[in-house]
Amino acid sequence: MLNFTVGPVQSPDKVREIGAQQVPYFRTPEFSNVMLENEALMKKFAKAPEGSRVVFITGSGTASMEASIMNSFDENDSVLVVNGGSFGHRFVQLCEVHHIPHTEIKLDAGKSLKKEMLQQYDNAGYTGFLVNVHETSTGVHYDIDMISEFCKRNKLFLVVDAVSSFLADDFDMSALDVGIMITGAQKALACPPGISVIILSPKGVERAEEHQCKCMYFDLKDALKNGERGQTPFTPAVGTLLQINARLKEIEAAGGAASETKKIAALAEDFRNKIKGLPFEIVSESMSNAVTPLHPLTASAKDIFNILKDEYGIWICPNGGDLADTVFRVGHLGYLTKEDNTTLVNAFKDLQRRGIL
Ligand SMILES: *Cc1c(COP(=O)(O)O)cnc(C)c1O
Repeated sequence: MLNFTVGPVQSPDKVREIGAQQVPYFRTPEFSNVMLENEALMKKFAKAPEGSRVVFITGSGTASMEASIMNSFDENDSVLVVNGGSFGHRFVQLCEVHHIPHTEIKLDAGKSLKKEMLQQYDNAGYTGFLVNVHETSTGVHYDIDMISEFCKRNKLFLVVDAVSSFLADDFDMSALDVGIMITGAQKALACPPGISVIILSPKGVERAEEHQCKCMYFDLKDALKNGERGQTPFTPAVGTLLQINARLKEIEAAGGAASETKKIAALAEDFRNKIKGLPFEIVSESMSNAVTPLHPLTASAKDIFNILKDEYGIWICPNGGDLADTVFRVGHLGYLTKEDNTTLVNAFKDLQRRGIL
């Protein structure tokens, strides 16, 4: 199968080779060194400020979204949540579950966040801001400079879910004054799912230290303490952490986060050029390099997904909910090449020849 979904994505050979090995015991100085190296490279790639810390959660991206909320906010906070799709909605659900007072900024599918929408919330007593910088479900990449400016002006603790955007789009945690940034193993890190990552700025660490977390597994105080020696409180997904280590070092050796972002941007641009003339409409006001969201004008998106999967051995990414029939997405993350883009575009052209598209 040729995989253009947005996660899990295709892994490089080095990562796959590690998957074939026995999983080692982990309470060792060797594994601690791997973890400390993972922490250092993650901080470097996210441009995290001096004194930041990284926690590797065994759980998918949502586990880190939940842990971040539980360790940063409580009933005395009041947070703004951008909800432009299913991942924004997830933050809203988490606020509800954890009784965190919140206001939802709801956006129609495909729409970006505008300055005027934020202005009404200036000086309104909020303490935090939650956003998925790339709302993967609709393929909208928000203006994070604008959001950061708003948060700095209003002294809001900014939590950014960058799960699908990390390494695909430029991101500078220090300059943006981000309190917490979240990502996951199965997107641009191109590893199997199972690990998600929380990068806490010094302010984020301080919040976690001060908050009483009503959960044992997700208590970041415990994780931060263990992390000082490169360990985790409980058995982590050891194999995936070793794969992340190989992948981070591969990115570093190839020129770091900037080169990886450039590579993903070039793949996205190549694909967007190659589909010109096909009966598709791009349905996002502002795209990430990670994904191209497309509305097929002449066929059902779900049918295209199924035919490509069953007859061509290609996975594109179907949409769920209201957009299931009208939108599919093509990812540009993971071990993909421009030749792979051509293979997909040729399959689209074949569907046209067959009268399906
Ligand atoms: C993939 C993704 C997640 C994580 O989802 P899980 O299924 O829990 O791994 C979170 N936020 C965004 C924006 C994502 O794209």
